[in-house]
Amino acid sequence: MANPYSKLELWQRVYVNRSLNMDRIKSIGFDMDHTLLMYNREAFESLAFRETLKKFILAGYPSELADLTFKPDFLIRGLLVDRERGNVLKVDGHKYVKTAFHGSKKIDRDTRHELYNGESFKAQDFLSVDTFFALSEVQLFLEIVDYMDLHPGKIDKNYREVYDDLRKFIDLSHADGSIKNVVMADPSKYICKDKHLATSIMRLLDGGKTLFLLTNSGWDYTNCMMSYILDGENEDFPSWRDYFDYTIVAAGKPAFFTGSSPFLEVMTDSGLLKSHSGNLVRHRIYQSGSANLFQKLTGFRGDEILYVGDHIFGDIMISKGKLNWRTLLVVEELEHELEQLEILKPLFNDIQKNINARESLDEDMQIIRSNLMAVKRHLHSSIRAHDAKKVHHLEKERDKYVDKLSERMPILEELDIKINELLQQKESAIHSMWGELMKVGLERSRFAYQVEGFACIYTSRVSNLRFYSPQKVFSSFHDILPHDP
Ligand SMILES: [Mg+2]
Repeated sequence: MANPYSKLELWQRVYVNRSLNMDRIKSIGFDMDHTLLMYNREAFESLAFRETLKKFILAGYPSELADLTFKPDFLIRGLLVDRERGNVLKVDGHKYVKTAFHGSKKIDRDTRHELYNGESFKAQDFLSVDTFFALSEVQLFLEIVDYMDLHPGKIDKNYREVYDDLRKFIDLSHADGSIKNVVMADPSKYICKDKHLATSIMRLLDGGKTLFLLTNSGWDYTNCMMSYILDGENEDFPSWRDYFDYTIVAAGKPAFFTGSSPFLEVMTDSGLLKSHSGNLVRHRIYQSGSANLFQKLTGFRGDEILYVGDHIFGDIMISKGKLNWRTLLVVEELEHELEQLEILKPLFNDIQKNINARESLDEDMQIIRSNLMAVKRHLHSSIRAHDAKKVHHLEKERDKYVDKLSERMPILEELDIKINELLQQKESAIHSMWGELMKVGLERSRFAYQVEGFACIYTSRVSNLRFYSPQKVFSSFHDILPHDP
């Protein structure tokens, strides 16, 4: 029988790192931002960029900074920021820095090697760009780095101090409402509705799952955004709150997964908080709390919970690592990347063809090299034995092999250049500066390693779940060993 999922577009599929039997999952939790709630990223990130920039100028930074421009496509997730040097890096799974920029300028290969690849690389010294929210933050940092290089002395701080200010101003922009009030006033400008979301969630409810919302956003913002995407989408469930048995706002992830804070109840009419003890009451709204307490109060074991989020560390690595929750990572970028990769298929075939040609040439050259070594050995012993006839014959043999090698050498070099060119062509078709999210050349990126290690399954958007049964067994082929028949 044909695979029923082969009809799906690549970006609509769910990918499996670790086998997951959905029948054993009793409860499914969702993060909100960039998980259920999809942003018009360009509109939202440029708002965050501008609002944060205003705070820089208010704090006494040069007013010329107002001319800095937001570039929506400059960065991708999964990069690391070197706040000391004003650099941003793409690292492979072996912590080898493969691409680096200082401000908006690419760092050449030799400098990059000297700075990062000479000694063991400590990823913890750098800031990881894990969320979409961080993209505009880091781009603003790089813009200011460029400004500082161009106008020395105009900002009397080092890069690190500027970054600390940036963090402060962003937190302030979130706290004083200068970002979220604008979004709440006009959600249609900043949020992309997914018309299949309600159906997808209903399918999980019909499959007998208990659903919960677990977000770091506060009550007023959560209520406004969730109403915008779900209210009235299904006649049985007029309000978004009807879908979720439990809603936890301002949860304070990742500490939610490691701490032991009690839950507070949100009085939804006034927004005030009340202390809470005893069981969680369905459809009421809670704040803070902790995962351990949540499990105790709801009776779900860690491996009976599937948590769906977009933050590789705050949602996925920590919930799986600390509590053994099963995890679904939403990787929004896959939608664009998998569409591109489909278009680039002929290029892939070309790359593979050249890699195969290189391998067989390499093999061929190895055999010639071994033969050459043997001939040289025989030649030496013949010289020692003064066997002139044999020496003459072996010298001819030796020269033949040397010629063969030198004929093949330029072909090998040409193939190397060709493969590199094709790989670069493939990478820049996906992103002109950083290439694929999960790859660096032929290797996996650091982000890909994290996904592989911690996300049981991953997909580009939550509504892709509608294509799969809520009892589906997602099977992984990762455990197949290279020597398995
Ligand atoms: Mg999120």
